[in-house]
Amino acid sequence: MARRRGRCSEPCRSDGDPSRIVALTAPISASLCPCGTGTSYADCCGPYLDGGQRPTTAEALMRSRYCGYVLARKDYLLNTWHPSSRPATLDLDEADPTRWLGLKIIRKEAGDSKDKVGVVEFVARYKSGGKARRLHETSRFVREDGHWFYLRGI
Ligand SMILES: [Zn+2]
Repeated sequence: MARRRGRCSEPCRSDGDPSRIVALTAPISASLCPCGTGTSYADCCGPYLDGGQRPTTAEALMRSRYCGYVLARKDYLLNTWHPSSRPATLDLDEADPTRWLGLKIIRKEAGDSKDKVGVVEFVARYKSGGKARRLHETSRFVREDGHWFYLRGI
């Protein structure tokens, strides 16, 4: 069947913008979560980044913040940063964006839904300036008013 230019035979929200067509054919919600749990983004970190839910453990916050970096979600990263250590702005270097390649949780201390503090040690692999690199950090988290926040790396 020949396609008529400028018309969709099916409901179509692309508005003719190729980048939106790509987004619609490969929605991130159906793909595996970047944080590496092996479940879909929609069942993992998606509800935190896109659905307004808050992680109930420090590890879940750590994972969702990793996705925040992968997806360049400054809003989410700043909102989940404790006000005492939160930077005024976040420069994710959009001219030469970091390509995040994977996250591995190495160690956890506390950080469950009833704890006040939590520690998560992780290694995140990424590519920047054409080189593969590793970020190895032990992050501290605090829970205030029922919500976990990233405090700082130690
Ligand atoms: Zn996830």
